[in-house]
Amino acid sequence: EAKAAGGDTWRVYSQEQTALATDRVRLTARLREAIERDELVLHYQPQIGLDDGRIIGVEALVRWQHPESGLIPPDRFIPVAEDSGLIVGLGERVLQKACHQAREWLDCGVDFGHVAVNISAAQIRRSTVAPQVKVALAESGLPPHCLQAEITESIAMDRRGEAPAFLQAMQELGVRLAMDDFGTGYSSLGYLRDLPFDTLKVDRLFVRPLPESAPDAAIAEAICTLGCRLGLEVLAEGVETPAQADTLRGFGCTSAQGFLYSRPVPAEQLPATLSELAEPAPKESPGAGDD
Ligand code: C2E
Ligand code: MG
Ligand code: MG
Ligand code: MG
Repeated sequence: EAKAAGGDTWRVYSQEQTALATDRVRLTARLREAIERDELVLHYQPQIGLDDGRIIGVEALVRWQHPESGLIPPDRFIPVAEDSGLIVGLGERVLQKACHQAREWLDCGVDFGHVAVNISAAQIRRSTVAPQVKVALAESGLPPHCLQAEITESIAMDRRGEAPAFLQAMQELGVRLAMDDFGTGYSSLGYLRDLPFDTLKVDRLFVRPLPESAPDAAIAEAICTLGCRLGLEVLAEGVETPAQADTLRGFGCTSAQGFLYSRPVPAEQLPATLSELAEPAPKESPGAGDD
């Protein structure tokens, strides 16, 4: 082991490790340029009320519009952004874009509810994100209640880190809060009562196996019951089938997001997507779809 061997021992990398490290260095450099060149774009995915089908919000999801490689999903570059510190600038751009876009929609009467922005643990740890939220709201003129900050359960529940200060700052600003990927962390349920969240997002992990899997149904139902009893909006992630939506509705889940309703779409496409969703579903009738 390098450490046990003493100070000036060279760490021996395998060829693959070296290649991976080089890839990461390249990717970091390229990502820095991408942020400067404004190659990051936001797509928006609608969130739907399960009782009446109304639009309750849209989630902003970042993509990298790479000139050669096309659209790169966040899982491929967010981890690199977090490790390199680029997440600070990236997160700032995401907040600015989402707030300006939402303000524009407000101005043209697009009823999107709120815009939800993902904020990662690395952003919270650096304590720079609360001031960024404040500035993005002020510069765009977006009313704070039209913005929702999504943070994952594991970071939200960390009482010792920067999370409590962040949550308090959002509460003071009047920004809504959603706990993302709920059910996958290790929540102290008692602490949940004390936190200023508006929404619990049931992780896709428990939604995907519905309605067949009894254990996943038990977990999803328990989360829905807990959230409702605490007076929270409970939103299911990754809803892909009507059977999943029906099951969740039966559990008292209040809202849903997923491919059943819409994939994340570019900003230009969102108003049309929302109007389609607002139209009553076409009635199933004999002869429908014959043409
Ligand atoms: P998340 O916040 O849990 O977002 C939900 C993910 O599920 C999105 O993936 C979305 O496209 C996907 N999804 C939605 N409905 C369905 C469905 O019905 N089926 C399936 N299979 N998937 C569905 P995406 O856009 O690739 O984002 C992945 C993760 O990247 C997000 O998970 C979030 O943690 C992170 N992320 C995205 N945008 C940002 C951002 O602006 N900043 C930060 N810090 N993280 C972001
Ligand atoms: Mg999210
Ligand atoms: Mg999620
Ligand atoms: Mg996730």
